Amino acid sequence: MKNVLITGAAGFLGSHLCDRFIKEGFHVIGMDNYITGDKQNLEHLKSNSNFEFIEHDVTKHISIDKDLHYILHFASPASPIDYLKIPIQTLKVGSLGTHNLLGLAKAKKARLLIASTSEVYGDPLVHPQTENYYGNVNTIGPRGVYDEAKRFQESITMAYHRFHGLETRIVRIFNTYGPRMRLNDGRVIPAFMGQALRGEDLTVFGKGNQTRSFCYIDDQVEGIFRVLFSDYSYPINIGNPHEISIKDFAEEIIKLTNTSQKIVYKDLPVDDPMQRQPDISLAKKILNWEPKINREEGMKKTFKYFKGLSHNDLFKRDHRDFSKHIKI
Ligand code: UDP
Repeated sequence: MKNVLITGAAGFLGSHLCDRFIKEGFHVIGMDNYITGDKQNLEHLKSNSNFEFIEHDVTKHISIDKDLHYILHFASPASPIDYLKIPIQTLKVGSLGTHNLLGLAKAKKARLLIASTSEVYGDPLVHPQTENYYGNVNTIGPRGVYDEAKRFQESITMAYHRFHGLETRIVRIFNTYGPRMRLNDGRVIPAFMGQALRGEDLTVFGKGNQTRSFCYIDDQVEGIFRVLFSDYSYPINIGNPHEISIKDFAEEIIKLTNTSQKIVYKDLPVDDPMQRQPDISLAKKILNWEPKINREEGMKKTFKYFKGLSHNDLFKRDHRDFSKHIKI
């Protein structure tokens, strides 16, 4: 049985990856410090003998006594409101955390896949975004802590690949959604769905003409899985190219949730990218991958999940207390 270490295992993407690797017959070691992850996301794996969990902050030295065959580095705050509150942790997990995992992969002769992001393209001047576009990132803006940490992560990963011959994979993840997203993480889908369910108006930032392209979690996990087992070491975009403006998206959610609420407009956050759409030609060619679940179907499944949350969860405001992690 092959062992796989998944960091950020208690997060949205991490927990779905744990499920997938267990289903595929791997022994999964999940790691998380719960800064933005949620214990609840792994509750169903607690008694599974092919799963073990280590509570640990990957920016500190990592020691694992077992053999490791694969490592997937998915630990990081991933929502703009989170990385505004914990900017230094965001920088550290992408830089120091990645360095530790590269060292671990080298020692164990494991293959390492890192979770990169469409944010490496910043507010893109090329549309749709292809992997060979270098990006347009404001290094000193509020989002820079995430974007630059992920750009550094790609650089150090390629350096280990070239210098040490480490087997590495880089996936650039575009907006992904589905069950287990944190209701209060500030991202647009949980924000709109939470508002609709609480009977609040939907907050569109700016004029709502900025665009995003949303990929359902099952498609994303399939893409990541194929990247890991491909022979390709350069970055690959994984996302759904179906693009929509945030205003039209809010209207879609109003229809789907059958709410009588309306749209209210708020200030656009600093450096909010105006448009985003992955060019997935490379993934199609190399991985024979493309998304299968359209937005209508994916949003229905996601709404079902949010509707199933308890009244308490739904009305709990920002329940994250970062203070115990902020000892820099
Ligand atoms: N957004 C919005 N209302 C909200 C939350 C987000 O209009 O309540 C917008 C946000 O400004 C951005 C888009 O939705 O243009 C996607 O935001 P999200 O935080 O989900 O992710 P991003 O793609 O910006 O990292």
